[in-house]
Amino acid sequence: MDVQKIKRDVLDYLSSKADVPSTPLSDFLTPLCAYPTPLEEYTKGLLDLPPNRRMSSEVHPPIPPGDHKAYMQYALQLAKRSPPKSTNFRVGALIVDADKNEVLASGYTLELEGNTHAEQCCLMKLARQYNLSEEHLAGVLPENTVLYTTVEPCAKRLSGNIPCVERILKLGRGIKTVYVGVKEPEKFVGENFGRMQLEDAGINVVLVGGLEKRILEVATAGHKDKTLD
Ligand code: ZN
Repeated sequence: MDVQKIKRDVLDYLSSKADVPSTPLSDFLTPLCAYPTPLEEYTKGLLDLPPNRRMSSEVHPPIPPGDHKAYMQYALQLAKRSPPKSTNFRVGALIVDADKNEVLASGYTLELEGNTHAEQCCLMKLARQYNLSEEHLAGVLPENTVLYTTVEPCAKRLSGNIPCVERILKLGRGIKTVYVGVKEPEKFVGENFGRMQLEDAGINVVLVGGLEKRILEVATAGHKDKTLD
């Protein structure tokens, strides 16, 4: 068996797919050489998850089911990856299948290209995984999909970008509950009507308390005036 050829074939196959897992190829090439099923069949299973969902290369820590504070702590960890910047808050967010206790997507402020917010990054990543536009995600999201975000989703954006509340509302009731770590400080856009808009649309908004101080410290790390009282 020509191992080099198999390696090339696998690389060709994987490079034709978006969101290629970052697993080192050498880790699974050795057993693959002895695998009797055609290569295409074997690798297909690694990338195509039902329904048409591609595997994400992201690894998430195990979190006990329904442990909202632990999820919020994980979102806070993500927020810390966001580059400090004086014009926005460093926020972390997770979209979770609450029934299966599975993280579907994670995100943080400025993770993806553009002036991206954490919730926006989660939705953009999911849209890419499913190869759908963001507003069509509602059709594929699990029954009990919830969002965790360290700071209440924005209802207005100074940059003209679509606010995160509007993005969530566009999913219909695709997201059932939004868990927030703190309400959005009113520094940039004045009072946040996001919570009211979400609740009016039948989406629960639940404050997960206990991490407010730390969340605000992380959120405002790039700001000159760190006292956002
Ligand atoms: Zn936002």
